Amino acid sequence: MTVDSDRFVVIGNGVAGTTAAEHLRKNSPSADVTLLAGEPYPLYNRVALPIFLKGRVQERNVMMRTREVQEARGVKLELDTWVSGICHEEQTVMTADGRAFPYDRLLLATGGVPHPLRLPGANLHGVYQFQTLDDTKDLITRCEESESAVALGGSYIGYELAEAFSHRGLQTTWIMRGDRFLRRLLDEDGGRVVDLLARDRGVDVIYNDWADDIHGENGVPTSVSTMGGRSAPADMVGYGIGLRYYTELAESIGLEVGKAIITDEYLRTTRPNVFAAGDVAEFYDVIINRHNQMGTWDNAASHGRLVAQNMLGKELVYIEVPTYVTTMFGSRLSVLGLTPESHPDLEREVQFNTVTRKYRALFFHEGKLVGAVIIGVLKGRRKLEELIKGRHPIEGDRRALFDLLGPIDVAEPHEE
Ligand SMILES: Cc1cc2nc3c(=O)[nH]c(=O)nc-3n(C[C@H](O)[C@H](O)[C@H](O)COP(=O)(O)OP(=O)(O)OC[C@H]3O[C@@H](n4cnc5c(N)ncnc54)[C@H](O)[C@@H]3O)c2cc1C
Repeated sequence: MTVDSDRFVVIGNGVAGTTAAEHLRKNSPSADVTLLAGEPYPLYNRVALPIFLKGRVQERNVMMRTREVQEARGVKLELDTWVSGICHEEQTVMTADGRAFPYDRLLLATGGVPHPLRLPGANLHGVYQFQTLDDTKDLITRCEESESAVALGGSYIGYELAEAFSHRGLQTTWIMRGDRFLRRLLDEDGGRVVDLLARDRGVDVIYNDWADDIHGENGVPTSVSTMGGRSAPADMVGYGIGLRYYTELAESIGLEVGKAIITDEYLRTTRPNVFAAGDVAEFYDVIINRHNQMGTWDNAASHGRLVAQNMLGKELVYIEVPTYVTTMFGSRLSVLGLTPESHPDLEREVQFNTVTRKYRALFFHEGKLVGAVIIGVLKGRRKLEELIKGRHPIEGDRRALFDLLGPIDVAEPHEE
């Protein structure tokens, strides 16, 4: 149980940390809550960075909080404050600029950092990761000076870059190691539908290959050559080759760490007064009875809401169906619940149509629906979520579930 004088420190002001900090105050108006932010901005919408990059919204539309709003909500926000260490014996967090913040309860909501690109030419001005608001501003500046671009990586960030580059009218080449986009999630038919959508937009996609050199002149890129002997013009290069989760702080105080920080279903780590939430939490997922880790906005926000209550002494179990919804070259991609990306042993049922550019896969575990991926407008989302959450075995013909999603052979208008 917490007492009124408890001090709460939250590390990381992404959506998980900010939501948690605000809900700590909302549920306990006298709580002393400090939010330590490595970046120089209050909460902004990471999910909106791709549309900002495309030029469809302004920076102000991406921002979600101001310092004033945060203060009015009773959260002490420390921007540009990188946590460099934790002394658990003294229950204190230390920052790189030499300050110390004592805590009674601590939340690690630190997310992750992109794996660096290790290639000749990767240090040229004009080669970018895509994770933060500052990355996006750098990308936009360079897009405005460029005519051609290469996106590297066959996962979500590689796709977002390829789509944004082509949306801005750059001659775009998308290079991935695998034989299709999201090769661990989509099967060959799903990959084919994405390939068609990309080519409809004029994107040149190179599969089963990888960059071996970024060539430059006067310190900026000019082209990318591949191991397979291809070459693509590139005034700029963006890459997304996965995240490394910030687990160092957790390890330094002896917490159990796997791919990310291990928690139970209440988002408690292996130390009773230390919690983890958002991308960095590898939590016990009662939907599948094993540990799970998500990289979605919804999941991080829900974690934030729930962990605040548990830090205040409740014991609420995390049970949500996370959803990742994004554009897909003018169409939509929706990923719900569990997928073979993290759990390769799931069974699947597939329906697709290359003419309408639609694709659906439903994933099952022990006879229950646990997840889905849909290319095309997502209809029947609520029903699918109910079925996943309900954890009841699906009786009869599992393919009948496709009826919930509307006809596969009717095309939908694509966005510009
Ligand atoms: C370009 C892009 C597009 C995306 N699109 C989608 C989408 O369409 N749909 C979707 O569901 N999800 C999307 N995501 C993923 C989604 O944004 C993340 O899952 C979500 O933002 C994770 O939130 P978080 O709070 O857990 O972590 P983060 O948002 O990563 O926040 C963690 C914060 O902690 C800070 N931090 C780390 N270590 C320290 C330290 N030692 N001291 C101080 N601060 C520290 C970091 O600087 C960071 O600001 C996208 C992500 C990106 C980058």
